[in-house]
Formats: sequence, C-alpha cells, structure tokens
Amino acid sequence: MTVEQTPTQRLYAVVEQGLCVGCGLCQSVAGEQHVSVMKTLNGYEQPVVVGELDHQTVDKILDVCPGTHVEGLPKDKVEENTKIDNVWGPWRRLVLSWASDPKVRFEGSTAGVLTALAGYLLKSRQVDFILHTRSSAVEPSFGEATLSFNHAQVLEAAGSRYGPSATLINISSVLDRNQPFAFIGKPCDIAALRNFSRHDSRVEKLVKYYLTPVCGGIMQPLSTIDFIKRNGMEPEKVTHFRYRGRGCPGPTRIESNEVVKEVHYLDFWGEDATQWALPFRCKICPDEIGEAADIAAADTWFGGSPTRQGSLADPGENAFIARTMAGQELLEAAAAAGVLSLGQDVTPDEMSGYQPHQMRKKYAAWSRFQGIGDEGRIVPHVERLRIQELAEDLPDSRNEYQRNGTRQRIIDGKVQEPTPEPWKL
Ligand SMILES: Cc1cc2nc3c(=O)[nH]c(=O)nc-3n(C[C@H](O)[C@H](O)[C@H](O)COP(=O)(O)OP(=O)(O)OC[C@H]3O[C@@H](n4cnc5c(N)ncnc54)[C@H](O)[C@@H]3O)c2cc1C
Repeated sequence: MTVEQTPTQRLYAVVEQGLCVGCGLCQSVAGEQHVSVMKTLNGYEQPVVVGELDHQTVDKILDVCPGTHVEGLPKDKVEENTKIDNVWGPWRRLVLSWASDPKVRFEGSTAGVLTALAGYLLKSRQVDFILHTRSSAVEPSFGEATLSFNHAQVLEAAGSRYGPSATLINISSVLDRNQPFAFIGKPCDIAALRNFSRHDSRVEKLVKYYLTPVCGGIMQPLSTIDFIKRNGMEPEKVTHFRYRGRGCPGPTRIESNEVVKEVHYLDFWGEDATQWALPFRCKICPDEIGEAADIAAADTWFGGSPTRQGSLADPGENAFIARTMAGQELLEAAAAAGVLSLGQDVTPDEMSGYQPHQMRKKYAAWSRFQGIGDEGRIVPHVERLRIQELAEDLPDSRNEYQRNGTRQRIIDGKVQEPTPEPWKL
C-alpha cells in the first residue's frame, strides 16, 4: 500500500492505468452508496466513488479485482487425469460441438453451446437460475447483468457483446437469494468471481458451474461510437445493437426507430486481428481463454477470423473446452440428453490454429507485465497461468520487444485513462 494515496486514489489508479475491466464487482464489495459503477467520460463502465471509502475496503477490492489479480483454475479443481497445456491450460476434453436445437444454434454467438447448456441446467433443475448478461435496455451497445430462470430468457441473452458489461455489479444481492445458480461471464468475470469466493463463502456453496466464452477482448467504446457514425447513424438514436449471432458470426445489426443497418462482422472488427481497437487491459490479458471456468467455448475459424464468403451461411461450430470433471460430466450429460451435438475431438495445437491471437497473447503476457513494472505501475498479480514459463520458451529478443513496446506505450501516454467521472453528452 502506498501510504500517501487516499483510498479513492488507490481505486482510481486501477482505472487510470487501464486495468479496469468494468465487471462491477467493486460496487458490490464497497456498497453502491460508496462506489457506483457507471458509464464514464471515456465511454467505459467504471467505478466512481460516490461516498466514503476506507483503505480496508480498497484492500478487499484490489484483492478481488480482475484488473489486479488473476488466477487460473483453483488447485483442487485440477483433478486426476486433467491435462495441462502450457498455452491452453487445464483440459479434460476438447471437442467440436453445437446446439442440437437449430434455433439455439442460429441465435447463438457461434453455435449456441453456452445457451444450450444454460437451458439444460435449468430444465434438469441443477440450478435455479443463470447469472449472465443480455443486451442493455439503456445502452444498446452494452451488456447488462441479468438472471434467467427459463429457456426463453436464456435465449434472449444469446450472442456475444463486445461492449462494456458489468456482469457482477449485483453479485451480493444475487448471493442473498441463497439459490444455486450457474454463472456465464467473460474469463475476467470468472476470475473476479473466483477471487470473490475467498471473501464470501456463499460463492463456493451457490455457484454450481462457471461457463465462459473464450474472449479476445471488447471493443473500445469510443471506437464503437465511431463505427455507428461511419454507418451513417447517430449513436444517441440507436435503439438496438446486435454484434453477432443469427448465423456464425451473423450480421452486425444497428437499429434506430428510422433505420436498420446490417454489416459484416469484419466491418466492425476489421480484417486484421493485430489492429483490433482493444482496451489496454484486454491487450495484456494473461487469461482470455477462461482457465478458471468449468467450460470455455470458442470460435473455430482457422486463423482467428471468419472470411466474408465463408460465413454467409455458416451455422457455426464451437470448440468446447471441458476443464474440470464437473464441466466434462455436464458436456457428456448434455450430449446424452440430445441438447448438444458433438463433432471430432481437437488438440491444443488445433486450438492455436483457430486462435493464433490467443496463443500470441499468452506468450507475450509476461514480458508485457515486465514493461508495466518497469514504468512503476501496478502489475497484476497472476497465479497458475504459466505465463513466465511461456515467455522463457521465446528468444530473448522477442521478450525484449514486447517489454519495450509496452514501456514505450506507457511513456507515450497511450496507457492513461481519465480519472473516472460520469459520462456527459
Ligand atoms: C467480448 C468477447 C470477445 C470474444 N472473443 C473471442 C475470441 O477471440 N475467440 C473466440 O474463439 N471466441 C471469442 N468470443 C466468444 C465467442 O464469440 C462465443 O461467445 C463463444 O464461442 C460461445 O458461443 P456460443 O454460441 O456458445 O454463445 P451463446 O450461446 O450465444 O452464449 C453467449 C453467452 O455469453 C454471454 N455474454 C455475451 N457477451 C458477454 C459479455 N460481453 N460479457 C459477459 N458475458 C457475455 C451471454 O450472456 C450468453 O449467455 C468472444 C466473446 C466475447 C463476449
């Protein structure tokens, strides 16, 4: 702890140094009368201190915050016969898969396996509800936390959203329900909830499954605003925004009361993965592959992106990573019940073929962290993610390149977010 800093400055340092993922957990930890996670000046959802804040609360926030603390699968979940790939982490089964119900497969982001599993968990009464996100009613390009109690609600929330989504903003009141549930969130959200389990024993008791989409990062919100404008629409007039789904990847669809515009997924992200407009925290993420989840679901485009021609009528196939015994048993039960269809098993190397950007990021994370440390900034605490081992497999010149590149970005002022203040039009 830096004694000179106030509690507010300590919390804001996470945001200002580009490490906040906007999961909302700090609001739950501090209480909404002290910290409110809201849309801020740079278009993200970030914590704004609205009441008293003490060092003890900030200590707890920094311990659970996935911007500052990321761990892999808890040691006791790495069960017998679990394999560990240095890039792809713990796994028990890697297999192609899709929702058997064509409607779920169509609506889903890739092939609907997360939606199908959530529906199966509800129908088989293994959980009472799913905590996940749907399109925000207030900010159409954002996600918002929601509880789904039935198949229709789960289906309504299908699809990937590449905007801010404060998935854990209400986690304390969700736990107050004292009902078993499954959690679907990005890998950073999963890390956050696992972190929180160290402080709240109800997490271990009530969260029956952790499911995650593999995640290359969200889009910087101001880039999404530019994208809407480039398509001739006014951001304030947008009523619905669907990033993908309805095919794989399906169209990116922007709606206002007067106009509906559909463009290709590649028009949103761009053709080249190295040019994606990602937040800094996503660029340096040590775990975008959901190592702490029971199940992670990914895309299967060789090279990491769809082609314009190939994706027109693609119904999609997920790569399904069962990491824990619970995840593997759920996969096999859902397949036996006819909810999931399974294709061929795949290898970690094939996963790297589908996801070269994930592989590159995993190798680069350690050196990027060194660059952050060199500049005297907060270095996220990482455990059980093997990023140092991966860096040691690379030539020194490559590690130096990553380290110096990160340092230079910081020196050039490219990794500096404004002090959080509420968004103004
Ligand atoms: C920000 C982001 C980046 C991604 N990048 C990659 C990538 O680089 N490589 C790759 O293979 N796959 C990536 N994906 C995952 C991919 O888009 C699919 O989500 C995944 O294959 C699961 O597909 P599905 O059809 O089973 O999902 P669905 O059945 O459509 O279910 C998706 C579930 O994810 C939840 N969800 C959607 N958006 C968010 C969000 N922003 N935050 C938290 N939860 C959310 C929904 O609530 C829903 O329950 C990304 C997903 C997201 C959200």
